[in-house]
Amino acid sequence: MTFLAKGFNVSYGNDIAAPALDSLGDYVLVTQPEPWALLKNRVKNQPVQIIQSGDLSPEHLDHLADTSPAITIVGLGGGSAMDTAKWIHWRRSLPLVQFPSLPSVDACFTRMSALRDRGGVRYEGDAVPEMVNVDFELFRAAPRAMVTSGIGDVLSCHTAWYDWKFAANQGKDEYGWSEEKTQISHIYLDELFNCAEGIKNLTDDGLRRLMELHRDIGWRCHELSHARFEEGSEHFFAYTFEEVTGRTILHGELVSMGVQIMSHFQGNNPERVRETIARAGTRHRLSDLDITEAEVLETMRRLPSFTVEQNHWYSYARTLNPKTYDDQGILDLLNW
Ligand SMILES: [Zn+2]
Repeated sequence: MTFLAKGFNVSYGNDIAAPALDSLGDYVLVTQPEPWALLKNRVKNQPVQIIQSGDLSPEHLDHLADTSPAITIVGLGGGSAMDTAKWIHWRRSLPLVQFPSLPSVDACFTRMSALRDRGGVRYEGDAVPEMVNVDFELFRAAPRAMVTSGIGDVLSCHTAWYDWKFAANQGKDEYGWSEEKTQISHIYLDELFNCAEGIKNLTDDGLRRLMELHRDIGWRCHELSHARFEEGSEHFFAYTFEEVTGRTILHGELVSMGVQIMSHFQGNNPERVRETIARAGTRHRLSDLDITEAEVLETMRRLPSFTVEQNHWYSYARTLNPKTYDDQGILDLLNW
């Protein structure tokens, strides 16, 4: 079955960003240094104002929104540029046009911005861009790991699907799990498996199909008003890692690590997860990710209690008992 995505208006192509900016009229550019450096000299229609993204505190974003000229808002960059542009657009009801420079997250296809508030992440807002322009040349100019990590928030459907079903079987599901409703997870995962080599090789086809998956997932989160199909014990592993270590790594690589570990404990086809990661060329060895064995094992020990404290959705992560597994086995799952 061919996968057909729903979601925001999108335009795909090579070297489409500069001509698209030239056709916009006056605009404020929300960006980061790297993607703008690539485009700057090729854009005739220069921005009226440039805002560097990075600070995602609500106070800062509101200040940007309050002081922005009333013209089109353009986001160019990764998640923080997308989220900042979304916030100004939403607060001021100004037109929004997005140019993601990385396929690492789906921020260009989701409505809410991820705010950093009092040490945590909070989602708020309701942004709908007029167009998301995906220029493959921007992706190809980025460090390769930023592209191949883009599978993480699709691969998460593998373990999240199991967790949702697991919760339903335990009478702890708030969202009405059914075989039929969650069939889409398998369609996403098959599509990801099939386009993974194209992602690794940075082909137009592979990159477009990855973005189409992000587009449909962003649309579905809004339709369902929840992300249960996409977020489960693999994300809870990632959040626990951040709590335990006080730092983070590329989101998609951390989530992929969580999928590998949790699918193993779930007895949920970990071989298929590994093969998808291998085909996409996503980094997974601890040495490549600059993570120590102690950090992984400490995260595993903390995971069950942290997920309860944080009131995460009921998932397989709650059932882990360090007395029942072998530490070396977990490390071996990652170091292949
Ligand atoms: Zn995620």
